[in-house]
Amino acid sequence: MSNDVVVALDVGGTGMKCALVRPDGAVHHTERHPTLAARGPEAVTGNILDIAAGLADRARADGLRPVAAGVVVPGVVDEETGTAVWSSNVGFRDVPLRDLTSARLGLPATLGHDVRAGGVAEARLGAGRDERNVLFIAIGTGIAAAHVVDGKAFGGAHGAAGEVGHVIVRPGGPPCGCGARGCLESVASASAVGRRYVELSGIEDVTAFDVATRAAAGEKLANSVWTEAIEAFADGLLTAQALYDAGIVVLGGGLAEAGEELLAPLRVALDARITFHRMPRIVRAALGDTAGCLGAALLALDSLGATP
Ligand SMILES: [Zn+2]
Repeated sequence: MSNDVVVALDVGGTGMKCALVRPDGAVHHTERHPTLAARGPEAVTGNILDIAAGLADRARADGLRPVAAGVVVPGVVDEETGTAVWSSNVGFRDVPLRDLTSARLGLPATLGHDVRAGGVAEARLGAGRDERNVLFIAIGTGIAAAHVVDGKAFGGAHGAAGEVGHVIVRPGGPPCGCGARGCLESVASASAVGRRYVELSGIEDVTAFDVATRAAAGEKLANSVWTEAIEAFADGLLTAQALYDAGIVVLGGGLAEAGEELLAPLRVALDARITFHRMPRIVRAALGDTAGCLGAALLALDSLGATP
């Protein structure tokens, strides 16, 4: 029993984070690989299976016993059937990844959604570990979220629950990737903040992190762009709080790197909007970009009934 490990893979648009994780959540070994999404979904699937098999071999070589595999992917995921239904950045269309992984490794396998898995890891092992009701929000190119209660993420009837990024906060606002206008993601994602600053300043290649830094240094334009984003974020969060009544909001993804530059004004802006709702704690994620991979391991352990 003490030699058991699970094989965990977090497949992203550009890279895969992989690990061998023990049942108590301790990480035995990690690897990173490029996803090579440009080669198409079949090549990516082959790549995932090769890497997973390689990890299982590595476990055996280290005297450990691989007992299950967990794979998490972006996009629309049917966790019941273990199918990667749709993904814009990896190109999956109805790929039965769970069964393919299970057949290749000869082990039970689980397929999950990257952000929900990351939320589960933050809720159980990271910043949310002393709260039962956790809202995890990843702010990067887009804004994705997961509502986790007692360590379990709720995917909804169609695997699309918790999509706080598509709450409309600025009706008629900037176009969103989803087809609507004024979604939170179109105004307050890292890409949206960078784009807005470039638009107004004419300076190219400015990231949201740069905007936060310039705002902190007292630059007027950066400050106004940053404040606009925080206000929009607080509007979205107020709706989320009305729906979820989270005890803690854990912010991850690239923009959370801004730390208190983001958290402090966001707390003030949300507090100013709160009426009957209760104010959640708002904190930065603790597991960084390994949350998805740890979440993949937790899903695999859950499937065995062997969770930390
Ligand atoms: Zn949208």
